[in-house]
This record gives sequence, C-alpha cells and structure tokens, in this order.
Amino acid sequence: MEKQVLIYDTTLRDGTQGEQISFSAEEKLRIAQKLADLGIQYIEGGWPGSNPKDMRFFQMAKNARIKKTRLTAFGSTRRANTLPEKDPNLKALLQAETQTITIFGKAWDLHVTEILGVSLEENVDMIFDSITYLKSKDKEVIFDAEHFFNGYKANPQYALKTIQAALSGRADIIVLCDTNGGTMVGEIKEIVKTVKESFPGVSFGIHAHNDCGLAVANSIAAVEEGVTMIHGTINGYGERCGNADLISVIVNLQLKIGKRCIDDSKIKYLTEVSRYVSDIANIPPLNERPFVGRSAFAHKGGIHVSAIQKNPLAYEHVKPGDVGNRRRVLVSDLSGKSNIEYKANEMGLTLGGNGYDSNRIVKEIKQMEDQGYQFDAAEGSLELLIKKFTGQFKEPFSLHSLRVINEKNMDGQSISQATIKISVGGEEEITAAEGNGPVNAIDNALRKALSKFYPRIKEMGLIDFKVRVLEGSAGTAAKVRVLIESRDGKDIWNTVGVSENIIEASWQALIDSIYFKLSKDQAEETGFN
Ligand SMILES: [Zn+2]
Repeated sequence: MEKQVLIYDTTLRDGTQGEQISFSAEEKLRIAQKLADLGIQYIEGGWPGSNPKDMRFFQMAKNARIKKTRLTAFGSTRRANTLPEKDPNLKALLQAETQTITIFGKAWDLHVTEILGVSLEENVDMIFDSITYLKSKDKEVIFDAEHFFNGYKANPQYALKTIQAALSGRADIIVLCDTNGGTMVGEIKEIVKTVKESFPGVSFGIHAHNDCGLAVANSIAAVEEGVTMIHGTINGYGERCGNADLISVIVNLQLKIGKRCIDDSKIKYLTEVSRYVSDIANIPPLNERPFVGRSAFAHKGGIHVSAIQKNPLAYEHVKPGDVGNRRRVLVSDLSGKSNIEYKANEMGLTLGGNGYDSNRIVKEIKQMEDQGYQFDAAEGSLELLIKKFTGQFKEPFSLHSLRVINEKNMDGQSISQATIKISVGGEEEITAAEGNGPVNAIDNALRKALSKFYPRIKEMGLIDFKVRVLEGSAGTAAKVRVLIESRDGKDIWNTVGVSENIIEASWQALIDSIYFKLSKDQAEETGFN
C-alpha cells in the first residue's frame, strides 16, 4: 500500500550554505512558489534571527501564493541561562509568523560540553523550555536533533534524553540529523530502528548530509525503517558536499518503492524544477545528475542505441518522460548509422537528400571528428549538420562582412569592437558593438543586428565557453576547438567550431548556436521542424 512521506525542503536555508549559493529574498520567493506548485509539503524559508534578508522573505511570503505548503522558520533553542520569552532568536522566529517552526538542539554530548560549553542538564532544559514556549504560541514544532547519529554512537542514553525532552515539550516531529554526513547506511537503519522502538507512535524525520555520498541512500534507508519526513534540497545543494537531493529522493521513493511524496502527475516537472533552481542559483546544471541531468538518458555506443530502438528497457530503468527528461542519442566517431537514423527520426528529418544517407553521414562525421570536431558534446551543431547535408537547412540570415578590432591601451585595458553586416530576406542591417573580448563583441553585434528580425533572440544566453588546444600541432598555430553551451527559458544546447584561428572557431560555434535557437523557435511557432 502506498504510504505518504512528507518532503521538507531546505534549499532556501541549508541549500544556501553551499559554496557560491546565495538567493535574494525575491529569488527565494520564486523558488518557494515553484516548490509549492510541485506540492512539496514543507519549505524552510530561512533563519529569521540570523539576517534581515530572511526576515524580509517571511514578510513577503505572507502575502504570496504558496498554496497548501507550510512555510517554516528555522532557528536554535534558547540561549543558556535565558528565559525563552526573553530570547532574541525565539522572538525572531515568532516574528516570522509561520504556522510551523523548526528548532535545532544538540544531541551529541561532545557538542554540548565542548562546543556550546554548557552542562548536559542545561542543554536538555534549553530544548524542553524552547519547545514548550513555542507550543504555548500555538505553533507546529519540528525538532532537529543535531548530530543525532554521532551523539547516539557516543552516548546513546544522552541522545535519547534530548529526544525525550523535545517530546515532553510537545514537539510534533523529531528529525534525526546526520549533520556531518559521516554515517553509513547500515548504521542509519539500525539506529533509526532502535529509536523508533524507544518512542512508539512518535513521528520521525531524517536530515542527511552527503559527505560520504550517501545522503539519498541514508534518507531512503530511514524511510524503510519507518521515518515519515525527509529533509533535503533541490539538486542536493548545501554545505560541503551538500544535502540529500530531493529530486532523487522523490523519484526513488515514488517510482521505485511505492511511497507517495507528491502527486503522481507532478513527477514529470522534476527536471524543470531542478533546472529552474540551478538557473536561479547560477550554477551550471550537472549533466550526470540522476534522472534529471542531460546525460541521464543519453546513449552513445552504437550497440546500446540499436538495442534501445528495439526496447528502451534494455538500457533504461525509468522512462525519461516520466521525470520530464528526454532520451538522447549521441553521435560520435564511436557511433554507427543507427545513431544517425535515431537522431534524424527524432528531429523529424528524412535522410537521403543530396545523396546523404545514414552511411555517408556517419563517414563525414568520422572525418570531421578526426579534424577535431566533437559532436557528442555538440548536438546543436550535429542537428544543423544533418539538415545541411540533406538539403533541409535554410539560412535564416546571410553574413556579408564581419570585422573585429582589438585595442590594448597604455593603461593595459583591452577592448574589442565588432562591426557586422547581415541581411534577412533582402533587407540589410549593419551594426557595431563593443565587448570585453573579440567573441563577446561579435556576439553582441550579431544579436543587436538580429533582434530587429528575430526578437526572441533576446531569450538566449551563453552559459559556457570552452576552448581546447588540439593535440598534434604546436604553438600558436595549433588548431583549437571551441564548445559553446547556450540556453533559453526552456532548453540547453551545445555547439562546436574548429579552426587554427580562434575567432573563426568561435564564430562557427556561435553562429550554430544562433541558428539552432532560430530554427527551434520556428519549429515551435509553426509546429514543423
Ligand atoms: Zn543540515
């Protein structure tokens, strides 16, 4: 029978502890709305006692549409030797005006005496008093037992005593935290089992960090032992090696072991949510991320590809569409004609035009890869190439001339200027633009010229630009390969260029990226490829 597991997202609090991650209050609100749309039950919004930005978020969230999702404010137990009603942290938690409050307290004796520097008894009182006080204010209270697993291993009686204190204070849910992420799956199972037996009828949660690469596995193991709430973050963002990745947690629980976390109909939005959060965090999405990464259902070897054409189950354990992702077939010098045929079919193209059947295209691609192109990393360029070979490509604009000037002045500043002349359907356009480098200047000039004819060009942006000097030639005359990754609100695509001239290689990759965007938009608008 399906059992409900509550998902508690802490992307906005623990997630922002991750290196390079910072969200403004407005960005937090956008993420919260996205997660609420997904049907996440709890969203931890921040620590109102720690910074004004989090307090501002809670104020904005009061009037926002976050559906049935419960927003929670996070903070610590009262300070030592302070009355709860006088404690500034508890005061700030109440000021956030959320229905649910999560407070953390120490469950490891070492942390109590050595780090916090209070007596074991005072720590137990701090937990009891703080929760009793918050309950008197009619709040739902979640207690995070920090370092619980280490604490239990060091001093089980004391660790259990902290839980007893939280329960005596009438905490609603007790969350066992593997705060430093060092606990093994077997230990998690064993400890959760014992704790559950010691407190029958109590609702428990798990908060796992990923320092051993086990956060998702530990969370699932805890659920198998009867835990009913999982804390984690989207994409596993978080301090050090991060938290349990809720995307993997949800898919595994729901599609693999039949526990319900969110509505079945929402699972297909997980890929979009993962990319949405990575976009706001401004961190390139991880290609290898389970289920939602670009490579999660990418097949490269010719044998694999012909097998999945017969039956996808041969190499896929979940249907890509079920999680909102898609199958990709990569074409490289390792692939055979089945990859090209699959690709053409996917793009709705017919092969054979201009005498280019799949055999001839494979041959051409192998030759180009020998020259330094790399198509498994540049599917955008590959699609255009197949279209060009088979006579199914129509240039959306023609280039008449391009000039780039680089200037380095006495102050050591360097600036580039590009002038470009293009025409679209007989109409000419000349523009100039500056940039902090030659490629940037060309990109700016080209977009400026094109935006008059194709306004949607503004939606796209470059997210990565990689230059690799190819082996086999020497010095500044060596060949270079440029790989560009681009995105708009919906898709990510890669293109490639190769030349002895870095500007020329960049131009090839850049122009392919723009062609790809324009033909994608056109297909969308007309419903044809
Ligand atoms: Zn944490």
